[in-house]
Amino acid sequence: MSPEQEKNPTPTVNTTDVTKVNLMGMSQEKLEDFFVSMGEKKFRAAQVLKWIHQLGVTDFSEMSNISKALRTKLADVAEIYAPEVIKQWDSSDGTRKFLIRVGGGNAIEAVYIPESDRGTLCVSSQVGCSLDCSFCATGKQGFNRDLTAAEIIGQVWQAAKSFGQLQENGPRKITNVVMMGMGEPLLNFDNVVDSMNLMMNDHCYGLSKRRVTLSTSGVVPALDRLGQYTDACLAISLHAPNDALRNELVPINKKYPIAELLASAKRYIEGLPDVRRKITIEYTLIDQVNDRPEHAHELAELLKDVPVKINLIPFNPFNLSNYKRVSNNAMHRFQKILIDAGHICTIRTTRGDDIDAACGQLAGQVNDRTKRSQRYKIDTVALMNSDSDVIPVKMIQ
Ligand code: SF4
Repeated sequence: MSPEQEKNPTPTVNTTDVTKVNLMGMSQEKLEDFFVSMGEKKFRAAQVLKWIHQLGVTDFSEMSNISKALRTKLADVAEIYAPEVIKQWDSSDGTRKFLIRVGGGNAIEAVYIPESDRGTLCVSSQVGCSLDCSFCATGKQGFNRDLTAAEIIGQVWQAAKSFGQLQENGPRKITNVVMMGMGEPLLNFDNVVDSMNLMMNDHCYGLSKRRVTLSTSGVVPALDRLGQYTDACLAISLHAPNDALRNELVPINKKYPIAELLASAKRYIEGLPDVRRKITIEYTLIDQVNDRPEHAHELAELLKDVPVKINLIPFNPFNLSNYKRVSNNAMHRFQKILIDAGHICTIRTTRGDDIDAACGQLAGQVNDRTKRSQRYKIDTVALMNSDSDVIPVKMIQ
């Protein structure tokens, strides 16, 4: 099945076609249509969702509340599979990182971060990313393709399975999901929306809408549509208090500047039934780039009429970046200015440093269709040989 076919699986049954539909990423609505097209009742969808996402069952023959005849019929036309975990790392602080195979020599990463009152899974939405934010390891890898809904929800499924969560009365280790891994979620709109709705579906993971967050760098037209399809929480990767600086750090800002982005985010949040919801503003603090007191004052002013909570993230250095981690003094000074201005402002504790699982460090393995990784490799090598007129080229394999 091509990625496009899997992206929007046709919920019909064709017994002469050997291609089977993967039910892993199918929304409840699509699964209901699928059963109706088989001449079955809609409620079968809820039963199958529970088998897959709460009990971890991928073999139709184990679905004991479904008739044997239907199980056989299902096995003929459908299958259930999540992308395979290639490797798992456990950090000394309890963070767990998964490297997940998604075909074509590509791999993506998902990270689980335990805290005293929650367990958050950071999920990827694309293989690489086309947006090239200057502080982000994923952006330097270039872009290959969108993940299917099965590959997105499959990350939650695999992580939950690794903790023994997918069984009757299994421990609820994953309490929160953030779409903040590799990729820009709003550039893979349909699959991300279907996956987030499965996360919040009571027949699946049953997460509260306050515990599923989509983080965007600012694809405004897609953000304008988001409220029609989901009521999950929203985070904005802002990282700068003005357009000139944000154009450098988050290049999509040249297309959709800050004023447009914040107006769109406000419309989304104001359209939610829960009036207490706030937009999370993510601000990665980079030494001597966006961490000065004047930046903090400008940010406080910019956000004064927007319902936000601000999350400061110390930059995590990685190869291919010359940026440096913010000093603790500068970080706390920045926070104080925002708090004094009346904002809620927290500092994100860096987790999983020892396994490269901290924010902005997810790189996976991307067969780069955009050739950006080649450019960065050239730039890096050129930088190291800056006395030379000749720029040696070395490809990343
Ligand atoms: S920060 Fe997000 S949008 Fe920007 S390059 Fe990285 S993954 Fe893409």
